[in-house]
Amino acid sequence: MKRDFSPTVLDFGPIHIYLARHFGFCYGVENAIDIAFRTIEENAGRRIFLLSEMIHNPQVNADLKASGIEFLQDNSGKQIIPFESLTADDIVLIPAFGTTLAIEKKLKDIGIKIEQYNTTCPFVEKVWNRSEVIARNQYTIVIHGKPNHEETRATFSHASANTPSVVVRDMDEAKELAKYILGEKPFEQFYTVFKGQFSEGFDLSRHLQRIGVVNQTTMLASDTQAIADYLKETMISRYGLTEENLRERFADTRDTLCYATNDNQTAVTGMLNTKADLAIVVGGYNSSNTSHLVELCEEKLPTFFINNEEKILSAQTIMHYNFHLKSELVSEYYLPSKHPVSVLLTSGASCPDALVEGVIKKLAGFYPASKSVEEIVTQFQ
Ligand code: SF4
Repeated sequence: MKRDFSPTVLDFGPIHIYLARHFGFCYGVENAIDIAFRTIEENAGRRIFLLSEMIHNPQVNADLKASGIEFLQDNSGKQIIPFESLTADDIVLIPAFGTTLAIEKKLKDIGIKIEQYNTTCPFVEKVWNRSEVIARNQYTIVIHGKPNHEETRATFSHASANTPSVVVRDMDEAKELAKYILGEKPFEQFYTVFKGQFSEGFDLSRHLQRIGVVNQTTMLASDTQAIADYLKETMISRYGLTEENLRERFADTRDTLCYATNDNQTAVTGMLNTKADLAIVVGGYNSSNTSHLVELCEEKLPTFFINNEEKILSAQTIMHYNFHLKSELVSEYYLPSKHPVSVLLTSGASCPDALVEGVIKKLAGFYPASKSVEEIVTQFQ
């Protein structure tokens, strides 16, 4: 069946909001939040910790904190509460993006039952399982991800337990890696350029002869595909491969891309076919998948990345995040004075729908002649 990725039109009259066909929470995030709140409910009186932020959304994490949960580490893996202060009776929730084998072991050694409260997303586990299978066939794993992201650190740890592994951040690093595969650069430079991104004992003379590419699930699927294709072509040209013997040197890992991130990204691509004045993307500023949605929109039209409706200060002024500069900026006259104004709207995989609703209501509220939200909702009933 052909899937529909065209946006849903909310026609308020003076403002048309085009809502992406898929936006917001993915299965993994919903599942993790569900388990977290159920754990709080069922374990009154016990200390409950989260290894680090459940998802990259400040509101959700603030809610969890308000419910009594404490964070053991920050997003970069820096310890906030020492593991040594934990006891076997404490509950530690593993977040949706999983954790490293070393941390799993540390918690198990204390006697903490991590399996019971593990919210690692099945799609992240799928990447680990696939890595295990290709590792068994002696492929080196190339992980497309941000080296310091929790999920990449977890995937790197699981993959490198079975086979040599290396992380590439983007196409530039994939091209750099290709130079060592092709023998175009002296091996010593690899160890400096990829410092902190390869597994212990990584031996360039042996470990780039058979490779498979997996990703941090929230990277742009099209970027991972482009990197995998580039490295595949590199292997073909280095070893003179054909379609028949390609698999001897390059593992097929296409089925490890997460459907949810993919759907949100494809829905943005579908939404961008609509002519509009601006785009608003809602999500946590440190959310990887949200920044990729922003990137897609920025290529086409003025885009404002906000983490909730309060950043829309008025009909003239908006405070928004520039993730290239890593800072919040204030822009004036972001809404054109023409009627109707067309706004594209989407949100990242860690953004609650209530925040998107808040943005819709705020924007529509700037136009006294606009239809009410209730009137719009009845069109869809
Ligand atoms: S983006 Fe995909 S892999 Fe990541 S938590 Fe969501 S469903 Fe799971």
